[in-house]
Amino acid sequence: MKILIKNKDINEALIKVSNLGFVPTMGSLHKGHEFLIKQSKKKCNQTLVSIFINPTQFNNKKDYLSYPKNLKKDLNILKKLKVNYVYIPNKKDIYSSKRKGAIVLKKENRVLCAKFRKGHFEGVIDVMDRLTNIIKPNKIFMGEKDYQQLLLVKKFIEKKYKTKIVSCKTIRNKEKLALSSRNQLLNKQDLIKATKIAKELFHFKIFLKKRKKIKSLLQKKIVSLKKNFNVKIDYLEIRKKNNLKSSLSIKNSKIFIAYFIDKVRLIDNF
Ligand code: AMP
Repeated sequence: MKILIKNKDINEALIKVSNLGFVPTMGSLHKGHEFLIKQSKKKCNQTLVSIFINPTQFNNKKDYLSYPKNLKKDLNILKKLKVNYVYIPNKKDIYSSKRKGAIVLKKENRVLCAKFRKGHFEGVIDVMDRLTNIIKPNKIFMGEKDYQQLLLVKKFIEKKYKTKIVSCKTIRNKEKLALSSRNQLLNKQDLIKATKIAKELFHFKIFLKKRKKIKSLLQKKIVSLKKNFNVKIDYLEIRKKNNLKSSLSIKNSKIFIAYFIDKVRLIDNF
């Protein structure tokens, strides 16, 4: 496994690689990331994983500073998975060039996390543009756990590059909680809370399949989650899978949630 730090290292290492799979991460790797890596290894000749906590996608400095970091453990995981390259760039290298033209989300895309985390997806798209330009992968593997991110990045990258975005299912623990690096920030009790919420929403989706008055059921669910779990909810909404337009039926749609347990913001979709 080669560790690459500088952009120059990337150019030298990848010059003869064809069909390269790229898995962008912010580290603190878990089985969700491992699944993406395994998919890349299956579908590509070589796999590169990046570990970069991108400052520009954090709309809150404290959130950025407290983001979990476990580089040593991550490298062990990647070695075991027999990843070919790990790219650990520094901020200066990624942001050495000024971008031409700001990234502006269309009004119709300013929903869910785009509405609640101002500048977040602009930061995500910018860094994905920079990473794709440096790495020039054939495929990028991304998780449905961050569904809105997946759709926005896919649209941008596939329009600008030949690179294809491959979407990968969300990996959950046995009790339906989506694996997330941020789960590490939760204490035992809060982890139980997050698990109960995930289970509840999983069953809620099945329940909604046979119902009509979805809007009022959603409102009731928001009230009950707040009351039973003492969480702050940014949104609990049903939106179409293909374009994230608001939906009044669960058909071809997903339930999206973003909520806080104390200061930890979690997102999921079902
Ligand atoms: P992150 O390190 O959180 O920025 O995530 C890096 C990539 O892993 C993104 O494409 C995420 O959507 C994906 N990912 C994170 N959690 C999971 C999960 N539980 N299952 C599948 N993919 C995931």
